[in-house]
Amino acid sequence: MTDHAITDLPAFPYHPDPLATGSLIPSDTECLSCGHRRGYVYTGPVYAVADIDDELCPWCIADGSAAERFEAVFTEVEGQVPMDVVRAVEQRTPGFAGWQQERWLTHCGDAALFLGRAGAPELEPYPDAVETLRQNLGMLGDTEAFLAALDAEGQPTAYLFRCRHCEQHLAYADFT
Ligand SMILES: [Zn+2]
Ligand SMILES: [Zn+2]
Repeated sequence: MTDHAITDLPAFPYHPDPLATGSLIPSDTECLSCGHRRGYVYTGPVYAVADIDDELCPWCIADGSAAERFEAVFTEVEGQVPMDVVRAVEQRTPGFAGWQQERWLTHCGDAALFLGRAGAPELEPYPDAVETLRQNLGMLGDTEAFLAALDAEGQPTAYLFRCRHCEQHLAYADFT
């Protein structure tokens, strides 16, 4: 396998580092959409007419061809944003694996940047994200114990985002 530089990958405006988040991994698997071995595949969820499991290359995601061919959606957008933003996230952005149906957070009328899964230690530098979690968890009882239990590798897990405009951090959490 060739050693590709990160700059080889297409740019994803809403998912700045899909290698770091684990959504893309080096692999010589043949892409189900273009039939080529491009050196990377997408490992996240695909909601589509076909059963697709770690078989799409980042280029077929970036140009929308995989979404078109398989009527695929990668991650549903939560919130009110323009239709072209919804399409960019749902059809041309690598998603991420959650414990439950994943949702892409929005802020300032735009989809936010997905930064990755986060546990309590990873959230510590982002009190603004923790505050959004606290607001969402208000009704669940022991919010502080839940926040302390957040685990990037286990569960519950938080999903960390940053607004592309005001730079506020946002997060939601889930578990099975
Ligand atoms: Zn492809
Ligand atoms: Zn914002």
